[in-house]
Amino acid sequence: MVVDTMTQIELRFIEIDSAAFIAWVAILIYYRPMTITAKALNCPNCGAALPQRAIKADLGVCEYCGTTFRVPKTLTPEPDMGDLMLGADFGSKIIPGWEVVNEDMLSFHKGNPSELRGNFKARYNTYYVFKSSGFLDDFDASISMQFTEGDLEIIRAGFYPRYTHEEGGYAVFVSAQASYNVGYYVKDKNNEIVWETLIPWTYHTALRSGLHVTNRLRVICSGEKFRVYLNGVLATSFKDDRFKRGRLFFAVAPTEKSDLGIVLSDLQLREVLR
Ligand SMILES: [Zn+2]
Repeated sequence: MVVDTMTQIELRFIEIDSAAFIAWVAILIYYRPMTITAKALNCPNCGAALPQRAIKADLGVCEYCGTTFRVPKTLTPEPDMGDLMLGADFGSKIIPGWEVVNEDMLSFHKGNPSELRGNFKARYNTYYVFKSSGFLDDFDASISMQFTEGDLEIIRAGFYPRYTHEEGGYAVFVSAQASYNVGYYVKDKNNEIVWETLIPWTYHTALRSGLHVTNRLRVICSGEKFRVYLNGVLATSFKDDRFKRGRLFFAVAPTEKSDLGIVLSDLQLREVLR
């Protein structure tokens, strides 16, 4: 009969609807725990998977082992910044707290941020760009740098933490091809300053390669503990006790094979948080 057929058709629609509904519920049930896991909700102590309700604001509490922990907002967190001890206005050649070196190769540009631009001719020795006016022991120093000229495979620039001309000190260089290295200068037995490598040239995925791209170098020295962050991502952490204090220099190394152009901005010297 016609009516019966209609009813059957309607029933089949209802069947399809409820099947779709059950499928939906299944998908929701299946994916919901995965979503929570994707929010990194595993106890950092015992590894137990925790429900969303275990998190209040950014604090997590493990209901299995009782550990309380901060839930990181990112997988590449940076340590909090301490108070600013000394910044730098690169808008004029008088920069309170810092001494510029090789001033004839530099130009000073007001703006937000102000910029220190340098153009250096090829030569074997590194050029100093600026240095702190006094010794610095523990600090959190950071600067934004952008190469503007030079052979990408050669040019490099970076901080010399705890450096003195008499004894040497550390150096952290960033290249224009997304790599960095760490070492120190020290006097050899002939009383000449020589380079010793702590970390050889290493590529780092957080660095940007090429000219006219900005990279931020952050070096934290706290006692004998050192940490280097590149564009906000931890590159290395190590201990060394060779140099305890010195000036903080910024240096560029064009080498004898290439000229070097650089733009520096947003120099910050901060207190180390413990
Ligand atoms: Zn736990």
